[in-house]
Amino acid sequence: MAGTLYLCATPIGNLEDITYRVLKTLKEVDLIAAEDTRNSIKLLNHFEISTPMTSYHEYNKYDKAETLIGKLAEGQNVALITDAGTPAISDPGEVLVKMAHEAGITVTSLPGPCACITALTLSGLPTRRFAFEAFLPAEKKERKVILDSLVDETRTIILYEAPHHLLKTLKDLLAALGDRKATVCRELTKKHETVFLTSLSKAVEYYTENEPKGECVIVIEGKSFSQIESDSQEEWKKLSVDEHMKHYLEQGMDKKEAMKAVARDRGVSKQDIYKQLL
Ligand code: SAM
Repeated sequence: MAGTLYLCATPIGNLEDITYRVLKTLKEVDLIAAEDTRNSIKLLNHFEISTPMTSYHEYNKYDKAETLIGKLAEGQNVALITDAGTPAISDPGEVLVKMAHEAGITVTSLPGPCACITALTLSGLPTRRFAFEAFLPAEKKERKVILDSLVDETRTIILYEAPHHLLKTLKDLLAALGDRKATVCRELTKKHETVFLTSLSKAVEYYTENEPKGECVIVIEGKSFSQIESDSQEEWKKLSVDEHMKHYLEQGMDKKEAMKAVARDRGVSKQDIYKQLL
């Protein structure tokens, strides 16, 4: 019978956040696949776990997934752990999970710490609807595509960032999204945890003066529906009268209705529009 792949969430700072179930599983499985074995050995030693460990990381994620699936198919139980937090959230775990499902292997997840959810709950921003963006792409064009796609995002936005990129990312966010409420969560669950309820512009000011330290999560308020509505009412300002007419005609209005709508948007009479179209 094939084994099971266990996704085991590990602490993002405070070792006491490990769950009983994760400890039990890490002791009982045949093999632990870890993102960085040098890092994870500290965790395993702390909890006196001596299960064999192998590496599973960004640079061997496809080949090693095949090897691990082979072991699972032979009946071994494998636990996946990453440097910190929930495997498959912004790390190579997602590849192994997909390939394991495709191979008909049972995959189960043992919930626990996750930086994204921890930051969201602390942010003081709406938590009911959120968009997790992980890290913004480093490549310029891709980064712009993602930033542009976030402009009209109405859900709370969550981003991961390393300290040495924090200031640039905050500046890019400010330029793309305009000033918004933002919460920068640093060193979550650790001794120097800080939750900085601020705005994008104030965060840029602050981190220009103070060097960012420690891992962080940026949580940003989504665009309000009233802002979206007022933006769309202003859209016509970019259009000529002809283009404005075309916009309504394409929505299925007849010429008379379109002229009325254009006149209303522009705060002029229908006759004025008629004259301009002539
Ligand atoms: N799988 C992890 C999880 O469940 O959160 C995330 C892995 S991702 C490669 C690492 C990023 O998570 C860091 O760059 C940082 O943005 C965020 N992170 C991890 N631990 C954190 C902590 N203690 N405080 C703040 N952010 C943290």
